[in-house]
Amino acid sequence: MNAPQPRPSGLATSRAHSARVYDYILGGKDHYPPDVEAGDAMCRHWPALPVHMLENRRFMHRAARHLAEDHGIRQFLDVGTGLPTSPNLHEVVQEVAPESHVVYVDNDPIVLAHARALLRSAPEGATAYVDADMHDPDAILGSPEFRELIDLDRPVGLLVIGILHFILPPDDRRLIQRLLDPLPSGSYLAMTIGTADFAPEEVNRVAQEYRQQGMPMELRDLATATSFFDGMDLLEPGVTQVHEWRPGPEQEGIEGRDIAMYGAVARKR
Ligand code: SAH
Repeated sequence: MNAPQPRPSGLATSRAHSARVYDYILGGKDHYPPDVEAGDAMCRHWPALPVHMLENRRFMHRAARHLAEDHGIRQFLDVGTGLPTSPNLHEVVQEVAPESHVVYVDNDPIVLAHARALLRSAPEGATAYVDADMHDPDAILGSPEFRELIDLDRPVGLLVIGILHFILPPDDRRLIQRLLDPLPSGSYLAMTIGTADFAPEEVNRVAQEYRQQGMPMELRDLATATSFFDGMDLLEPGVTQVHEWRPGPEQEGIEGRDIAMYGAVARKR
């Protein structure tokens, strides 16, 4: 795979950006003063935000491991990857099967600049990074990286984790459908979906803060979240808050009101 080249002219660091705010709140080091300011404001609105974000990330770990371990998935497309945070998706699935292929996609130039960490694949497998926008699914599906690493005769795990709240209707459904279209039957969609169902006041204040910082955000209720999986077969336990989806010991003691994210995994028929 070609090493990604930083795109200096695209590095708009004078405004907060979702990937860097997420990095800041999770305790990373790849962010700038506007991201710190935005992140602090959001945590003032809702102190549970770091727990919520960590549980979103941990859902990704459990869902990916489940797909690799119990459903034999060996190729993954991860849209909205975020800044590298160990364990990254390829580390989770290559621990189960080192030959696994992972294609990462994000549209943030800062993520691109750090993508090298995502390319440290196990030698038996392969990873690649595509600098593309989810609003342009054809750029993802038509990229040399996707075409080289993903064999469309075998099932694929499509991950859309912690990004759908930035994808507004009416495009949201069409974009997911377009990404699923070329994937064979027996592929899976693992997705997390932001919601204000559990701490409406606080979470709506955070969403308002994101919007004011120039990051439009859409939250969904349970019925809307569930409808994204229409026509697919939901794996047990269906659509739940992320910490309640096949929880492990780490999820003990987590309060429902601290988690503003639904998660689910479904199989394409
Ligand atoms: N999936 C990771 C990161 C979530 S943060 C995790 O759950 O841990 C959301 C990420 O989505 C950010 O990195 C942001 O840059 C990316 N993103 C937001 N809108 C996007 C778009 N339209 N196309 C591609 N990536 C996008």
